Amino acid sequence: MTRDALRAIPPINDLLESPAALALAERTSREFARARARAVAGALRAEIAAGQLELEPAAVAAEAARRLEAEGRDTFDDGSGGTDDRLRRVVNATGVVLHTNLGRAPLSRRALEAVVEVAGGYLNLEYDLASGGRGRRDAHGEGMLCELLGCEAAVVANNNAAAVMLVLNTLAAGGEVIVSRGELVEIGGGFRVPEVLERAGCTLREVGTTNRTRASDYEGAISERTRLLLRVHPSNYRIVGFTERPTVAELAGVARRHGLPLVDDLGSGCLVDMRPAGLDEVRAGAALAEGVDLATFSGDKLLGGPQAGIVAGRADLVERVRRNPLMRALRVDKMVYAALDATLRSYCEGRAWEDVPSLRMLAAPAAEVRARADALVARLAVGAEPGLLRASVEDGVSVPGAGSAPGSEIATALVALEHVRLGSTEVEARLRANRPPVIARIERDRVVLDLRTVAAEDEAALEAALAALAGA
Ligand SMILES: *Cc1c(COP(=O)(O)O)cnc(C)c1O
Repeated sequence: MTRDALRAIPPINDLLESPAALALAERTSREFARARARAVAGALRAEIAAGQLELEPAAVAAEAARRLEAEGRDTFDDGSGGTDDRLRRVVNATGVVLHTNLGRAPLSRRALEAVVEVAGGYLNLEYDLASGGRGRRDAHGEGMLCELLGCEAAVVANNNAAAVMLVLNTLAAGGEVIVSRGELVEIGGGFRVPEVLERAGCTLREVGTTNRTRASDYEGAISERTRLLLRVHPSNYRIVGFTERPTVAELAGVARRHGLPLVDDLGSGCLVDMRPAGLDEVRAGAALAEGVDLATFSGDKLLGGPQAGIVAGRADLVERVRRNPLMRALRVDKMVYAALDATLRSYCEGRAWEDVPSLRMLAAPAAEVRARADALVARLAVGAEPGLLRASVEDGVSVPGAGSAPGSEIATALVALEHVRLGSTEVEARLRANRPPVIARIERDRVVLDLRTVAAEDEAALEAALAALAGA
């Protein structure tokens, strides 16, 4: 029976001749219709073989046609298996505020509105409204960055990896760059300082040791081949114990004595004192004030804006970076400028802690998270099948994430889930399969949810997902 049903699945070429496929091809493309016909046939085969679908052989072709007919209407949410690469909003209940896999910083309302306002129409991206002629694209955001950081110039690239690449390639291609052995980091996603240096056309000159490097180590390595001194924020690890690292001021002294630029890859662009969130991170403005010639940092880590890489510092050096032909390949899109501009405006108006979601999340006191967790657990108890899903609130920790403050933990409250029938991995998987997906962590064999990273507007969806579990 199963074998006959499998044999009755029409060949792709026959399926493509069906009215449904022809109509789909007309509205989309022949290639697309073929791809969807393959997907429908594959799903039918899998379901029949697994015994999930029982069909008379004579009914199989009609079922295939019915599914192809539906294709045109709801192409991607058809549950026909395969990889689902559609971007969707997810509920981040992991407590990792700047979760690289979940898109890092959520944008502020103002940033979103700015994107909608400019991107839905035309804008003065490269147009000078005063003269009516061509304007500069690479100057957007520069004024605010300079005021916020106290520097002469700034330019925005696609991300911080691009910013570092641009700076190294501009200032040091064909020459040597001195880096401490304690800072030859791999950030993740393939960003390894030695490899980036090489690709930028520079030669790495390592100095010091993993745990101890002194200013004199840099000084001793300087030769006529040296082009710059590079400091790198060890974003995702910490060296503790018998350690030594020169201060920025000491390194700046060495750089100045030899007429070399000091570049600091700060990683996460921290524009304000982060102590209100309990984090001890160097402000970009402070690094520049201490003598860094060029600082590079991300727009979507502690800054809390869109993916971007900012190069800020001395005007002559920034100008050289701007003129690098690579800039054309690594520049940002109008939507990024709009979102960054609006985010920086929040900083300029002293409203960053209120406006920027990631800053708000980082600074939320544990008591506030606990109050939300208690309320959620109380709401779940109402109407839940008694005893199937137990939810309780306990102490735990959230983390900043994205290597933005290594080793930092933020006290939080967690909702711990225990299901009578389902194990923790099954509970985690069901939450992930929810629409919208809820991303949780497993701790001590229980699924835990950290409301610190769950936006208020996502709480209803989270509650519905939990209610479904409680009825499972
Ligand atoms: C995160 C990070 C980068 C890469 O930044 P992206 O914006 O992700 O490209 C580079 N250097 C350091 C020190 C970092 O922490």
